[in-house]
Amino acid sequence: EAKSEGPGKIKVFRPFMLQKLQESRTLEHDLAMALANKEFVVYYQPIVDSFTREIYSYEALIRWIHPLKGLLSPDTFVPAAEKTGMINEMGKYVLEIACREAATWAVPAKISVNVSPIQLSSKAFAGIVLSILEESGLSADRLELEVTESSLFTENDTPLKTLNKLRARGVQISIDDFGTGYSSLSRLSKLAFDKIKIDKSFVHSISTQDDALNIIRLITGMAKSLNMKAVAEGVETQEQLERLQALGCDLAQGYLFGKPQPGIAGRIRNG
Ligand code: C2E
Ligand code: MG
Ligand code: MG
Ligand code: MG
Repeated sequence: EAKSEGPGKIKVFRPFMLQKLQESRTLEHDLAMALANKEFVVYYQPIVDSFTREIYSYEALIRWIHPLKGLLSPDTFVPAAEKTGMINEMGKYVLEIACREAATWAVPAKISVNVSPIQLSSKAFAGIVLSILEESGLSADRLELEVTESSLFTENDTPLKTLNKLRARGVQISIDDFGTGYSSLSRLSKLAFDKIKIDKSFVHSISTQDDALNIIRLITGMAKSLNMKAVAEGVETQEQLERLQALGCDLAQGYLFGKPQPGIAGRIRNG
């Protein structure tokens, strides 16, 4: 099939284009169906005190139990959800599930929920969070939102206003995957965040690359001077933990302490 575009110009519609179109259409349709059919589930992974291993928080991590493909990790569908705007609904769903679940835990651990830049740039987001807190009965100081550096690098001032508003109500804010984005120090010091999560790529190289060790030292030092806590992601070995402790990293998360697991009644509830 060929389509003309202005005089003398021919744009060929190639089969691979049709295929791409069909693929994205199907995914968009699938995501909407999945939400309606409650195929998304929330897994929880502990974040612990680096020294005492006491549980500080659980991070909510979305999974898709696909009827044909089985368990899908967020990297395979969150980008598509962001592209289609579906992330707003999906993110609201995760917040609802996570806050309700956390409100039933016997332990006073916080719940950390990932928030996409798309959600944060919506003026409705702050109101959504506050109404979910009210409806679930979870106190605001038990909710922590994980945002990425890229959320804040926009002309739009909604993300900042939203975060400040929620923070004034007691919600805590972490910067996720720190070190992989483009945060400027001046901007960081202006936004009173509560925590900096050091990206797992640095943690994984902490024992083999001096660069990684130095970057982590820099980030933990910076967190201290800005009055924030440093959290290390992706801690898998005792050796990594010991190095992080030596650098004074307050909190840690990783397979060494626990993998993400579904929050079925009992497991988390009874601590
Ligand atoms: P993230 O927020 O940086 O989450 C940490 C990721 O590291 C998770 O991957 C977690 O399972 C993984 N991880 C934890 N400990 C270890 C470890 O010791 N070793 C290794 N190799 N990996 C570890 P996951 O669950 O696949 O999530 C990937 C990303 O998807 C998340 O990265 C987050 O950016 C995004 N995501 C997850 N759930 C949501 C959600 O509800 N909303 C939004 N917007 N994004 C989400
Ligand atoms: Mg996260
Ligand atoms: Mg992270
Ligand atoms: Mg990460």
